[in-house]
Amino acid sequence: MVVVLAGGVGAARFLRGVVRVVAPEDVTVVGNTGDDIDIYGVHVCPDLDIVTYMLAGVFDEERGFGIIGDTHGVMDELAKSGADTWFALGDRDLGVCAGRTKLLGDGAELHRVAQGIAQHFGVRVRMLPMTDAPVHTVVETQQGEMHFQEYWVRHRANIPALSVRLEGVEAALPAPGVLDAIARADAVLLAPSNPVVSIGTILQVPGIREALVETRAPVVGVSPIVGGRVMRGMADKLLPVVGAEVSAPGVAALYVDFLDGFVVDEQDAARAAEVEALGMRVAVTNTVMDTPERAEALAKETLALAQAVRA
Ligand code: GDP
Ligand code: CA
Repeated sequence: MVVVLAGGVGAARFLRGVVRVVAPEDVTVVGNTGDDIDIYGVHVCPDLDIVTYMLAGVFDEERGFGIIGDTHGVMDELAKSGADTWFALGDRDLGVCAGRTKLLGDGAELHRVAQGIAQHFGVRVRMLPMTDAPVHTVVETQQGEMHFQEYWVRHRANIPALSVRLEGVEAALPAPGVLDAIARADAVLLAPSNPVVSIGTILQVPGIREALVETRAPVVGVSPIVGGRVMRGMADKLLPVVGAEVSAPGVAALYVDFLDGFVVDEQDAARAAEVEALGMRVAVTNTVMDTPERAEALAKETLALAQAVRA
């Protein structure tokens, strides 16, 4: 069984490759819920849903969120009523969120709801949120504190960030199955996701980081930095906030206590020795997942590195 710690789009692309190499039933996703937001009366889980939609083959690649071909009747009506619709949700996407909200309101735990949504979309991987507890990332900026989605979607990360914290994490427990999956895995993979607000939030849930240190499974990550830059997202703005350089060794150093191997993009080959100097094995390859075939090749190389560090 392979465990993949996952954020949004970068992780979803990677997972699309992983399930071409490993049977989906043997893949456990531990997904970030720090991006979750309650808005328009529904509970949105952007990263869990991005992964589900991508694996189901219905992800809207062009917009970078939501379901392909979705309509936006609800948002149009909301806007007419004078509501601020800065956080766009398509009609089907909103339906998924409304279904989740109803089940949560009836007392269901998020990990059961997430698994149900994945199954409903024909996705066979095991989808676990990092925690069932309500948590969300707060970004402190020069204009005050705001929800991560406000910082990212409303302000496009154009306001200088001063600090980032995960509200509610002290009282959070890993979702049932998370620690056990990490302990029993054949390999644990860190998808190329945001090191601060995706992987970083997962690592803050009490017990998860310790489980990664203690597991007998090889733990291998894929660099989200390509050619010294981010491919998408705002990690370049947030890495300096946590004192990390925007580079492959800068990211690897954040995981140095538990990472056995790191896949570095060929464009960053010159920095590979610095990653190795942190005490981990390195594989250098093309990590740009512009096609499912490329994602599959990257998944194979990542799993091969996991095999190699285990041997
Ligand atoms: P997240 O997955 O929710 O953290 O957010 P994004 O998917 O928007 O981006 C997170 C990180 O993934 C960014 O730092 C991107 O550079 C990285 N990323 C996205 N696509 C790729 C890819 O094809 N290859 C690699 N190596 N990194 C990627
Ligand atoms: Ca995300």
